[in-house]
Amino acid sequence: MCYPGVSKLLPGMRSLLPYLLLLVSSCGFAQTTQVLPSPVSESEEERAEAHLKQRLAIWQERLGLSNWTVFVILSHPNGLRSGTLGNIRWDMDKRTAVIRVLHPSDYRTPLPASMKDMEFTLVHELIHLMFASLPRNEESRTEEEHSVNNLAAALLKLDSTAAR
Ligand SMILES: [Zn+2]
Repeated sequence: MCYPGVSKLLPGMRSLLPYLLLLVSSCGFAQTTQVLPSPVSESEEERAEAHLKQRLAIWQERLGLSNWTVFVILSHPNGLRSGTLGNIRWDMDKRTAVIRVLHPSDYRTPLPASMKDMEFTLVHELIHLMFASLPRNEESRTEEEHSVNNLAAALLKLDSTAAR
């Protein structure tokens, strides 16, 4: 079963949220050209992907999602909804989910900053997964997006404090 992607929006796009939500009606993809690429080497790409998978395992356990099989895929903008940095699709029956995260070469920031933001996207999408069984409508999606962002920010702040 294919669920509409739940997406993390670019910070500057949040004011357009009600408009963008109108576009969330299918599993289709849209092209975007608003993120200018900054190339990363193959080894940097591998490093980013390995780091993200490692963080996925940690966050899955922390969030009580170990009973899910979650895949993370680095995705170029043409694999994401326009103006978004990631999305998640899940199959409740199979307990599988696929999280797409913007590829580091499509960020305009240096790799360490990109990787931090990619982890934010990962945590953001995992929180959506925690809410997967809750009822949802267009109005609640806006509220959910807001709460998910706040929760993800709080969790990552705690994580970075604990790491010190
Ligand atoms: Zn979201």
